[in-house]
Amino acid sequence: MKLVLASQNKGKLKEMQAILGELGIEVVLQSELGLTVDVEETGTTFAENATLKAKAVMEASGLPAIADDSGLCVDWLQGAPGIYSARYGGVDSDEERNQLLLNNMKGALDRSAHFHADIVCCFPNGDILNTAGDIFGTIAYAPNGEGGFGYDPIFFVPSLRKTLAQVPAEDKNAISHRGNALRAMAVKLKEYMENH
Ligand code: IMP
Repeated sequence: MKLVLASQNKGKLKEMQAILGELGIEVVLQSELGLTVDVEETGTTFAENATLKAKAVMEASGLPAIADDSGLCVDWLQGAPGIYSARYGGVDSDEERNQLLLNNMKGALDRSAHFHADIVCCFPNGDILNTAGDIFGTIAYAPNGEGGFGYDPIFFVPSLRKTLAQVPAEDKNAISHRGNALRAMAVKLKEYMENH
């Protein structure tokens, strides 16, 4: 089966290929098919936004499409930045978003947070598969580490005693929200392919 990834992100492609490739699934970027579908993320949940993206690319390509949507949810901030993680505070860089979040956590009595990811597969016959994954941790007091991206330098994982930016990519993928959602999707896709 060929799955079109509703993203321009080569890092995501690699991660998906590694896990779904084992099932004999070929994942391709929409740009490889000459598609430039740019979907406005108007949903109010991660699942809605992932579905909007996967559906638009499935319709444009006529092939099964896969999309994800993810973000950081901080308990003290009532779940913010959540679905607005990529544009938190309207600032332009990861560093500025991390600093803004740390400023908003000044005096916080609870630093619990989790990353959440939803992954959705849409098929031309109307079938939809949906999985979710999380990783729980706390917001660090200062950024630490050079790896990863986004909020990784300020996301502290108690069991590792490190931020996600301080661990190699394979170690992060083994425990991350996206890794967990993707492994759950691999199970569902395997079952789906066996029955279709
Ligand atoms: P998207 O799902 O690729 O649109 O990601 C939304 C935003 O959530 C990203 O721009 C990051 O700010 C944040 N985010 C999602 N996953 C991660 C992660 O694994 N590490 C750090 N930040 C993340």
